[in-house]
Amino acid sequence: MERKRQTVAILGGGITGLTAAYYLMKENLPVNIVLIEQNSRLGGKIRTYQSDGFTIERGPDSFLERKDTAKKLVEDLGLEHELIRNATGQAYILSEDHLHAMPKGAVMGIPTDFDAFEETTLISDEGKELVKQELTKEKMEPKDDLSVGEFFRYRLGDEVVDKLIHPLISGIYAGDIDRLSLQATFPQYYQLEQKYGSLIEALRKTQTNKASNKPKQGQFLTLKDGLGSLVDALHDEIKPSVDVMLDTEVKSVEKNGDRYQIQLDDHKQIAVDQILSTLPFEASKKVFNKPELFGQVLEEENTSVANVAMAFPHEAIEQLPEGTGFVVSRKGDYRITACTWTHKKWPHTTPEGHLLLRAYVGKPGDEEILQKSDDEIIDIAIQDLNRVFTIKQKPNFQVVTRWENAMPQYTVGHIERVNSLEKALKEKLPGVYVAGNSYRGVGLPDCMDQAIEAVNQIKTNHY
Ligand code: FAD
Repeated sequence: MERKRQTVAILGGGITGLTAAYYLMKENLPVNIVLIEQNSRLGGKIRTYQSDGFTIERGPDSFLERKDTAKKLVEDLGLEHELIRNATGQAYILSEDHLHAMPKGAVMGIPTDFDAFEETTLISDEGKELVKQELTKEKMEPKDDLSVGEFFRYRLGDEVVDKLIHPLISGIYAGDIDRLSLQATFPQYYQLEQKYGSLIEALRKTQTNKASNKPKQGQFLTLKDGLGSLVDALHDEIKPSVDVMLDTEVKSVEKNGDRYQIQLDDHKQIAVDQILSTLPFEASKKVFNKPELFGQVLEEENTSVANVAMAFPHEAIEQLPEGTGFVVSRKGDYRITACTWTHKKWPHTTPEGHLLLRAYVGKPGDEEILQKSDDEIIDIAIQDLNRVFTIKQKPNFQVVTRWENAMPQYTVGHIERVNSLEKALKEKLPGVYVAGNSYRGVGLPDCMDQAIEAVNQIKTNHY
């Protein structure tokens, strides 16, 4: 059967939009592809800065190898020779001006090796006892969803949650784990608990099989010149076949018979057959102007964070512990939430003789810090860092990056709300899809997975 030539619009040129454009192009369907991005650059949250031999990531710095879509995309683009794995080393938790070594055998903060856990100075004897009791604790009553906090507090007690699990999870979601959906973030832990009863027992069984006989190696990958080179490669690949419209804001989308009319900010309109919106949820909701369909997938405002990369000469810091960095325990008066010794974790980013620290600020209740000047943010970060080692001079240079409303909060019931939105779109706006970090995962591979799934739907709908 002769297939009609369609036009497909991809809204947003972050990693989700770019991945979708690339794989849709590779399908060789009779379609015109238009990618519309409001900024003058592609990549969205991916922003690499290079200067004087330093490679500084202002947004994401790497992706998890285990979720294989990202590595596969790098290979499809012929960039596998540029892949770099993170160096491993001791990670710490900062609590009460002391860096406590992350207990060995802990998986996302969940202790599995009790001998190693016994040695930690971070958790009190009572806290340790509660963890041991996890082995015999009843599994939870089955639930459609619950908060990450509720689940782990029940299984392991408050202390381990506040001091170990919360800071690690905050590094990914920058939110309140007592509101964060377990199903949308770590459904595997719920499933393991339901299957084995004890989560620790389940992790011991499932993790040791995987880890056996393998030397410990880093789990994250990046590219030698930073993730910006992934964006550049995607752009180069799609350029000949995809109409990439930069500096173009999508204002609204209207259904017009079987097609859709997209209104752009320069008063231009384009008519298309299918649309993949990778805009953040609130932006999608606004341009489609159908609040009854979009509902409130994200019930809470996205949270805001900032990071500051600081380059020092080697001799500027005294007593920097061996290792790769720390996260900060939930309780306490620190304003930084984590710090990575980037020159250790990613040695290729830093010229010989220098140190590169990347500190993070901004957490629920402390969003105000983003309104401060660069100098004030740097002073706050250095003040906090000086509580654990000695920084003798100001950095040679620094890069402060604010990410306002950038971290979507998947609160309890999130997956159910995403399912409802997708169902409503299918019924009321056929040929419209949503993907990206507001929906089914915030990690780069999760965004890529969503892009690929959307391409499959566009393909199916094309026939
Ligand atoms: P975005 O990158 O936000 O792209 C959406 C695009 O839509 C933007 O380019 C925007 O300009 C555009 N847009 C918005 N409105 C309009 C409009 N009306 N018209 C046209 N265009 C519009 N993930 C990891 O896997 N590893 C990490 O190390 C990691 N670290 C992170 C660190 C930080 C500081 C942040 C903020 C995130 C991090 N993440 C990390 C998460 C990951 O970076 C994001 O989830 C991912 O990049 C989101 O991609 P996206 O394409 O869905 O959205």
